[in-house]
Amino acid sequence: MSSETLPEQFRSVMSPSPSTTAHPGLDEWRDRSIGQHPQWAEHPDFAGVIQELNAVPPLVFAGEVDTLRERLAKVANGEAFFLQGGDCAETFAGATADKISGRVRTLLQMAVVLTYGASLPVVKMGRMAGQFSKPRSSNEETRDGVTLPSFRGEMVNGFDFTAESRGHDPKRMLRGYHTSASTLNLIRAFTQGGFADLRRVHAWNMGFAANPAYARYESMAREIDHAVKFMAACGSDFDALRTTEFFAGHEALLLDYERALTRIDSRTNLPYGTSAHFLWIGERTRDLDGAHVDLLSRLRNPIGVKLGPGTTGEDALRLIDALDPEREPGRLTFITRMGAANIREKLPPVIRAVEESGAKPVWVTDPMHGNTVSLPSGYKTRRFEDVVDEVRGFFEVHRELGTFPGGIHVEMTGDDVAECLGGSDPVAESSFAERYETLCDPRLNHMQSLEIAFLVAEYLSA
Ligand code: PEP
Ligand code: MN
Repeated sequence: MSSETLPEQFRSVMSPSPSTTAHPGLDEWRDRSIGQHPQWAEHPDFAGVIQELNAVPPLVFAGEVDTLRERLAKVANGEAFFLQGGDCAETFAGATADKISGRVRTLLQMAVVLTYGASLPVVKMGRMAGQFSKPRSSNEETRDGVTLPSFRGEMVNGFDFTAESRGHDPKRMLRGYHTSASTLNLIRAFTQGGFADLRRVHAWNMGFAANPAYARYESMAREIDHAVKFMAACGSDFDALRTTEFFAGHEALLLDYERALTRIDSRTNLPYGTSAHFLWIGERTRDLDGAHVDLLSRLRNPIGVKLGPGTTGEDALRLIDALDPEREPGRLTFITRMGAANIREKLPPVIRAVEESGAKPVWVTDPMHGNTVSLPSGYKTRRFEDVVDEVRGFFEVHRELGTFPGGIHVEMTGDDVAECLGGSDPVAESSFAERYETLCDPRLNHMQSLEIAFLVAEYLSA
């Protein structure tokens, strides 16, 4: 097929690819300080891996990335809500059909509830198909007197505590790319092939609310049921609701990987990160003069930035100048993760400064990363009540300031794990020995995720 016969959004990436190294500025990050990056540039396989990644097909199309930017512009305007969720760190072994479908199903279930609560479309995104690298607070880990490099996600090294596994291996980027491709392929098949059918997703939710532990959400589930029946009676085209848009995003931590997957879109001659639709910068790598802000400032993708409790209004304004100088709606998302104890005090000055500047980023709450605690037993966990309290604080602050609480970003899974404590059908620490599976941060399980969606729907409809 000649590229001229392809629809425009595909033509750009199918046409002979211009050099991925030729665009001005795309390599300036190499002269900046870079935090959290693997030590592998001298590895004998490094150059070959980068060469291969320069040549592989993009995982997402520039046209889809532009569509996401338009969707997020609606969120910035208060006309849509944004849901992001998935593992803290994906694993290669966890990229199975069952686990991927469980996560997608849970996100779709959450999205139906949120759509009802907000009376708005929900932009759905997996923290999936690329979330294979992790920032760490320490470069090393010591066990029984043995010190080895910290686990940094399976795209960098292995979780096993041996010198061989913990070495940084650039070949893991190739496995990360291929695992992302197969994950994304299944997500596309599910969300386009009938799995996302509104009636099916709704029936799953009725199952959730029928569980006595979640009786308090039954009335909302029943209201949604009435709404679906009303739509049917009015002759809604349910066939049109069999498919849904679903995007992928991850933390853009490994700049070697992100740079190697950058492609120049021939429609606009602009660089796009093609490892995912949405890329975010973590709390630990968002320094203004650093490499991560520099590279992401040059990509056309919608960009997120995590903001912890130390963020000032001035920090937020400088990030806007660096990442969204044109103040383009949908370009920039601030994902705040202040902690339940801090959000009501720390978030308002940041929002006020941004509002006064006239910028309109999307505001998302990540109620996970400011609420992590270590138990005396050594388990890292989060209390469901703290997660809920941060979400509630986020809504309270936005209501008070008259700004739009645009979305929620959660670490979750579709499985029945025991990693976060509490919830209406409470998870207790005694279950951790059997069902604590995460390699990194603790995730909400299937039921806890749905409960959060019902709670957020209540705030949205209040
Ligand atoms: C994460 O999202 O897993 C993470 C490390 O978050 P943060 O950068 O907000 O600490
Ligand atoms: Mn995490």
